[in-house]
Amino acid sequence: MEKAVKTTCPYCGVGCGVIATVAQDGTVSVTGDPDHPSNYGRLCSKGSALAETIDLDGRILHPEIGGRPASWDEALDLVAEKFTTAIAEHGPDSVAFYVSGQLLTEDYYVANKLMKGFVGSANIDTNSRLCMSSSVAGHRRAFGADTVSGTYEDLDLADLVVLTGSNLAWCHPVLYQRIAAAKAKRPGMKVVVIDPRRTMTADIADLHLAIRPDTDVALFVGLFSHLVSNGAVDQNYVAAHTSGFADAFAAAGGVSFGEVLERTGLPAMQLREFYRLFTATEKVVTCYSQGVNQSSSGTDKVNAILNCHLATGRIGKPGMGPFSLTGQPNAMGGREVGGLANMLAAHMAIESADDRDRVQRFWASPSIADKPGLKAVDLFQAMAEGRIKALWIMATNPVVSMPDAEAVEAAIQACPFVVVSDIIKQTDTARHADVVLPSLGWGEKSGTVTNSERRISRQRAFLDAPGEAMADWRQLAEVARRMGFVEAFAYDAPAEIFSEHAALSAFENAGSRDFDIGAHVGLDADAYDALEPFQWPRPMGQARTETRFFADGGFYHADGKARFIAVEPADADRTNADYPFTLNTGRIRDQWHTMTRTGKSARLSSHIAEPFAELHPRDAMEIGIGNAGLVEIESPRGRVVVRALITERQARGSIFAPMHWNDQFAAKARIDAVVPAIVDRLSGQPASKNVAVAARRFTVRHYGFAVSQVKPVDPDAAYWALAKAEGGWRLELGFTDPVAEWADWCRRVFVIPDGVEPLGYTDAQTGDARLAFFDGPRLLAACFLAREPVAVARNWAIAQLSADHANLRKRFALVAGRPGADKPDPGATVCACFGVGVNQIVAAVRGGCQSVEAVGKVLNAGTNCGSCRAEIRGVVDGCLAAAAE
Ligand code: SF4
Repeated sequence: MEKAVKTTCPYCGVGCGVIATVAQDGTVSVTGDPDHPSNYGRLCSKGSALAETIDLDGRILHPEIGGRPASWDEALDLVAEKFTTAIAEHGPDSVAFYVSGQLLTEDYYVANKLMKGFVGSANIDTNSRLCMSSSVAGHRRAFGADTVSGTYEDLDLADLVVLTGSNLAWCHPVLYQRIAAAKAKRPGMKVVVIDPRRTMTADIADLHLAIRPDTDVALFVGLFSHLVSNGAVDQNYVAAHTSGFADAFAAAGGVSFGEVLERTGLPAMQLREFYRLFTATEKVVTCYSQGVNQSSSGTDKVNAILNCHLATGRIGKPGMGPFSLTGQPNAMGGREVGGLANMLAAHMAIESADDRDRVQRFWASPSIADKPGLKAVDLFQAMAEGRIKALWIMATNPVVSMPDAEAVEAAIQACPFVVVSDIIKQTDTARHADVVLPSLGWGEKSGTVTNSERRISRQRAFLDAPGEAMADWRQLAEVARRMGFVEAFAYDAPAEIFSEHAALSAFENAGSRDFDIGAHVGLDADAYDALEPFQWPRPMGQARTETRFFADGGFYHADGKARFIAVEPADADRTNADYPFTLNTGRIRDQWHTMTRTGKSARLSSHIAEPFAELHPRDAMEIGIGNAGLVEIESPRGRVVVRALITERQARGSIFAPMHWNDQFAAKARIDAVVPAIVDRLSGQPASKNVAVAARRFTVRHYGFAVSQVKPVDPDAAYWALAKAEGGWRLELGFTDPVAEWADWCRRVFVIPDGVEPLGYTDAQTGDARLAFFDGPRLLAACFLAREPVAVARNWAIAQLSADHANLRKRFALVAGRPGADKPDPGATVCACFGVGVNQIVAAVRGGCQSVEAVGKVLNAGTNCGSCRAEIRGVVDGCLAAAAE
C-alpha cells in the first residue's frame, strides 16, 4: 500500500517540510508539505530532487575496521577501548568528537552529553563552527544568550528587507521565493542586497551595494552613526532595555561618511540611499548569513548589525529585527544541545559554575567539562601536534570543508585512531579512518531538527534501515555503555532522548534561559511520532503564542538588558603583489556541501557540472584566460585547477569559487585547500570569503569532453571533473601530457569490453580525436578531444547515452558532435526541474515571451521550485536588451 510520511528536508537551514510518498513498488516521490509553516509547500531544486539521492549506490552498509568488514560488536568494542585508553593515558582532552549540523538533535544531544559530562572534556566541535558561530558569539555578546529574535513571517511583513552576505536565491531559495512573493504582492516593499558579487539574489533588489569584501562593519557602523544623527534612535527602548549605547556611539562617531565610502568602495549616492531607506523605514529585517559570519571580523559584523536594530528598537516586533540565517538543517539544534566546544547544553554557559553544576546534577554525571574545548581549527591543529589521540567524526567531511584542507587531511592521517560515522563509504575523509561506521541516512533515521526561525520539526523514517546501518545516537550510546556509562545512556528510542533534552531545557529555568521546550517533557513514542512543527520557546504549562523575543526587552544578561558593542572597522584588504586577487568561496544552487548526496542526482548536476571560478572579464583578459579556459588558483596553502567562468557579476579583483567539489568528483578542486586557517578571534569561525590568491591560466595540450554509460575509472588527467548525467556520466578533461593512444585511454577509463572497436578518428598531426564506442544500437562512451575547449553541446551529447544508434548516420552525427536539425541543442540547463536549457529560453524570447512568467507558460521553466527564476530573468533581459540595440 502507498505510504505518505511528513518529514523535513535535510539540506539548508530553511527547514522545509516535505511529504515523502512510498509507492507500492517502493518508488519514492517527494513533494513540499503545504501545511508546514516554514515553506507552505514550496521546495527548491535540491528539495525537489531528494528522491533521486536515496539509492544505496556508494553507501557503507556494514562496519569496517582497517578496510575489512567487522561486526558491530567488534567495531564498537574497539572504539570504546581506544577512547578509554587514550583518556586513561593522556587525559580527557586527548580525545575529540567532530560532528555536524547534519546530525539530528537527538544524535547531537547524546554526543555532547558523552563528551562534556562523562568523558569530562569539551572537545566536541562541529562543522557549524564554519557556518554560524560568529552569529552565536554576536548574539551572546549583545543579548546574553544565543537567541534568534524573529520568525519567517517577518519577511512577509517587512517594508525593507536588507540581505547582507547572503545569496538567498541559491542558498536559502524558499526564503528568497517568499520575499519575492511578498514584494510582488506589495511592490512598495524594498529589498537591499549587500554583497561584493552581483548574485542571483540581486535580481529582486531595489539597491545592490557591491561593497569591498569584509567592509560590512564600516557600513553598519556608519549606519549606526547616521541613525543617531538623524533622530532615528528609539530613546525609550534604549533607556529601558539596553546599556553601552554611549561607548558604541563614540566608536561609531569616529567613522565618518567619507571613511565608509573609502572602505566600502560604494558610490556616495548608493550609500546615502541605503542609509535613508533604513532610517525612514520602521519595519526593517536585516538577514545575514555566511558572508557576515565567515570572516575574521564576523562577530563584530554581527554586533554592528545588532547595534542598529537595538538603537531603533526594531527587534522582536512583527516585520522587524536582525535575522541570522543558518546554513545547515540542524545548526540550530546543535546550538540548543551545546554542540559547540564553547557551549554547554540547553543554552547554558560553560564558563558559569552554576550552569555546570546544574547540568552535572541533571545528568548525574561523574564529571563536567570546566572550560571550553578546542574549536574546529584549533582541534585539527592540536591533532597535527599529536595532542589528540582518538577522534570520532560524524556526518561531515572536514578534508573537503575545513580551511587549510591539506593540513587537516595530514592531521587526520597522523591521528593514532580515527572513527568516521557516515552513510557514504568513499569520502575524502573516510578514506583515512581506522574504523568506518555505517549510519542511517535521510529517510531512514528519525528525530528532530531546528531551523533558522527556531522551529523544531520531525525528520521521520519512511525507508527500512539498509544493511546494518545504525542511528548515530545509538552508536554513541553503545560506545558510552562500553566505556562504563550504562545507566546514563540506556536509550531505546529517540523519543526518550528528546524528552530528556526537553527536561534539561526546563530544569531550574523559570524564564532565566531562552531555550525552554518543557512542554514536551515526558512525551511518549506516540506523541513524539505525531509531533507537529513548533517554535520555541514552549515552556511547560504556558500557552505562549508569541514566539518573537525582545520586543519589550527581557534580555539574558544578568541585568536583563542588551549590550551595545563598540565595534570598529578593521583593515580588510589581504591582497599583495604575489596574491593580488580576493577569493570568496560559497555554495551553488543545486549542490549541497561536499556533494555526497546531491552529486547522485543527474538533474542537480545538470545545472553546473564542473568546479569553476567566476572572474571579471577584464581580469580574465589580463591573465590570458578565455571563456571555458582553465584557471589555476593558488595561495600559500594550496592550489586548485577549475573552469573559468567569465562574468560581469564578479567585481574586478575578486574571484568566486564553490566549496562543493572534492577528490571524488574532480582532480584538484578542493577550494578549502587554498583557504588559510584565519579565524574570528571571538567565535573561532574561519574567514572563507576574503582570501588573497594568485590566479593564472592553466595551459593544457588537450581539452576533452566525454559521456559514458559507466562511471569513468581514474582519468589520470591534469584536469578532470566528473558528474552524474541522465543515463550515465559526463567527464570534462584537460591533459598536460601527451597520451600515446586515445583509443586505449578510452578503453581503460570507460571500461570498454574487449572486441568493441571505436568509430571515429584521431588526427595524427594535432592529436585531436573523436571516438565513440557502441554495443549494438547502444552508445557505451563517446570522447571528444581538441586543443581548444571542446564545443560539443553537452546536453545533446548526454542525450545520446539513451538514444538508439542502430542507424549508421546517427553514429556519424555523434562522432561529428553535431545535433541533427530535428534535435536542436537545448543548451546549458537553467531549470533543473523541467530540464530546460538556455537555448530553449532564448528561442522562447525570440518567439515573443517577454517575461519569466511568459517563458514559464511556454516551457514550464521556473514554475516548480522557482530557484531558476532569477537566471531566466537574466536570459530574458539579455535577449531583450540585445534585440533593442
Ligand atoms: Fe531543502 Fe531547499 Fe527548503 Fe533548503 S530551501 S530546506 S534545501 S527545500
